[in-house]
Amino acid sequence: MAQNIEFDALESNVNAVIAVADTVRTTLGPKGLDKLLIDQAMNRHVSNDGVTILLSLKTIHPVARMVVEIAERQEQLVGDGTTTAVVMAAEMVKEGRRLIKELGVHPTKVVEGIESGVHYACELLEQVTKRISINDVELEHVVNTSLASKLDGKKLASIVIQAIRRVGNNAMYNGLYDFDKSIKVIRRMNMEDRIVDGIVLERGRIDKEMPIEVKDSRILVCKLDLKPIKDSWLKENSRYEEILSMEKDRVAKAKEIVDAMLSTGANVILIASPEIDNVVENLLVNRRVFATIISTDEVESITRYTGAKPVRMFEDLKHDGILGYADRVYEDEDNGIIYIENGKNKNIVTVIVSGTTKETSLERWRAARDGVNAAEAALNKGVVAGGGAAELHIIDKMKSLKLRGLEQVGVDVVASALESIMRQILTNAGFNGLEKVMMAKALPDTFGIDINTGEPLDMLKAGVLDPLLVKTTALKAAGEIAKAVLRIDRNLAAEDLSQQALSESKR
Ligand code: ADP
Ligand code: MG
Repeated sequence: MAQNIEFDALESNVNAVIAVADTVRTTLGPKGLDKLLIDQAMNRHVSNDGVTILLSLKTIHPVARMVVEIAERQEQLVGDGTTTAVVMAAEMVKEGRRLIKELGVHPTKVVEGIESGVHYACELLEQVTKRISINDVELEHVVNTSLASKLDGKKLASIVIQAIRRVGNNAMYNGLYDFDKSIKVIRRMNMEDRIVDGIVLERGRIDKEMPIEVKDSRILVCKLDLKPIKDSWLKENSRYEEILSMEKDRVAKAKEIVDAMLSTGANVILIASPEIDNVVENLLVNRRVFATIISTDEVESITRYTGAKPVRMFEDLKHDGILGYADRVYEDEDNGIIYIENGKNKNIVTVIVSGTTKETSLERWRAARDGVNAAEAALNKGVVAGGGAAELHIIDKMKSLKLRGLEQVGVDVVASALESIMRQILTNAGFNGLEKVMMAKALPDTFGIDINTGEPLDMLKAGVLDPLLVKTTALKAAGEIAKAVLRIDRNLAAEDLSQQALSESKR
């Protein structure tokens, strides 16, 4: 029995969190170092991206895995700040462990304290937040800051900023910027980086005999059943006459469908049907229209971009207003991709990110996405001083809040996490992080330390800005990890938990 129980779970779990943090902490900030990832087959990949590194770890400890999961969620929620979250989590559990073990504070008090500590910290950060808009120079600053530590960050930042400004306020939905909807980032090897005013489909047209380019495109998005006679019907039938009549039917039906599609006035047909009859395909080639296949995911953005209404039923082809519009649809045959440019609603741009190898293109793609996400967060919720300055300067304000007993405990835990960001960034830049943080504490609120010189620097003036949302989400993620870990007092070896033990009926 004994070996099934880990009595000092706190120690072991806290160490696991710290170990995970140690693998990524040296990547934090612009002077962060890269990691070389090597898999079993000796494939190598160099990365500076917290989440990439975490996800590729062969983590064994279950608590370490939990940290990775929460970091991944952070990535999905705001798309940046994962290293920050993990570094803060390590600090919180370390300080929490000290309170529990050395000072004998009950874990539940520490956990409650962390909850309110995180809450106050987020409120204080909100109070120092600056709102920005799309043409402000601060937008450039925030994207540059987010990409400061990335491979080719400067170039990517400038592309991201241009893309954002091109789509502009057309990217707004319900009063907020939604770049998930309006800025597509795709990666292509052996192509130059570029911004496309429109949508890029990563495939060619159905047949090379179709026109390669259509100007003043009238676009039909087709979800019709384009295989009226199923192959299986023909196969299952052995009577020659019936087969013949079905074949005739098939040709007639195909003609009818294609005629109806073209009578809408469409000169580009984007097909999202599950199957297409060969005869339909051949007729489309014959009639010299531009046609290609699109996925169900693409239907949504294409209709939003061009104003097309997807046609599901044959009868719908007679309705007005089903066609979408774009200035130009054409195929780049060398690269096998299709551009849909200057659609009616001008609410999508695509950033093509290049890379010489699969890995570099992936790393650059992730970086570009980080930049886009940081910009969205910054435009929607504002920015704070970066380099760990905003976090550092709310500590005193937090400590001066007159809190009830146990909440004060949480303040200490959260305070140590808030301090750790600047310390780590400066340690990574080759300074004595602790010493520099002490120096920065005495400086005005927006000040931190210049990573190049070690001298005081006004982060707002220097253009080192972080989105508030990235900071608060990272804090909350770190708090979540810390709370979960500190609450556990035993690690038990259990039977298979995947089905029965966790099923509702057993609760
Ligand atoms: P994360 O995975 O947490 O996003 P990054 O490696 O992207 O980690 O580092 C982000 C941190 O680096 C932010 O706190 C940001 O303010 C800081 N940073 C970026 N540029 C600078 C700079 N020039 N000086 C100081 N800190 C910077
Ligand atoms: Mg980042």
